[in-house]
Amino acid sequence: MTVSVNEFIPETANTLIEEVMERSGQNLLSCYQCRRCAAGCPVAEETGYVTPDRLIRMIMLGDYENALNNPLVWKCVSCYTCGTRCPNGIHTARITETMKKLAKENHLQPERLKVVNFHGTFINSGIRWGRVNEMEFMGLYELKNTFPDINQFNFKPVIEELKTQARLAKAMLKKKRLHFGFELVKGRREIKKLYKKIKKLRKKL
Ligand code: SF4
Ligand code: SF4
Repeated sequence: MTVSVNEFIPETANTLIEEVMERSGQNLLSCYQCRRCAAGCPVAEETGYVTPDRLIRMIMLGDYENALNNPLVWKCVSCYTCGTRCPNGIHTARITETMKKLAKENHLQPERLKVVNFHGTFINSGIRWGRVNEMEFMGLYELKNTFPDINQFNFKPVIEELKTQARLAKAMLKKKRLHFGFELVKGRREIKKLYKKIKKLRKKL
């Protein structure tokens, strides 16, 4: 992936900054690139040099494409460490969340499709049952991941993926971290209503 962080793109900069600030509620203009956020980010090793400060820089420069689709946006675990360290109270987790939504709305091919599948399946499962039921969730998530290959009758990667997941399931079972039960939660109708309401409100923004 080529990530340019040096070039100012005036055509997109203002619109992008305004949109991200409004939707994330974070004041990007107060960032003075001290990098305290980067020092504490637990996924920084995984994201190369795209640390929270770099992401803000990309947005400020109007680097629309890279700001919307880079490893940090998809690997941020929303731990809020960056926000607690930032002298200006900037919570990058809210920014990465905004960038994910923007990428989805703009139909960009995400850099980490599995993360998108995970997100979507997790949220839908929560809305459907009021809580995530692990077996259903994992089944649907894997179906989403493998569907493109199944559709092409390309079964080798499907088998590899299932083997990997089976190994993971075995390890989790040993640690009692995998549950077979199926739970329904009271107030599912209210959860659905709430979700619909938020979606409507978001469209109006
Ligand atoms: S800690 Fe805050 S001010 Fe410093 S670089 Fe990170 S976001 Fe910017
Ligand atoms: S919230 Fe995201 S960007 Fe901030 S420190 Fe945690 S993982 Fe890194």
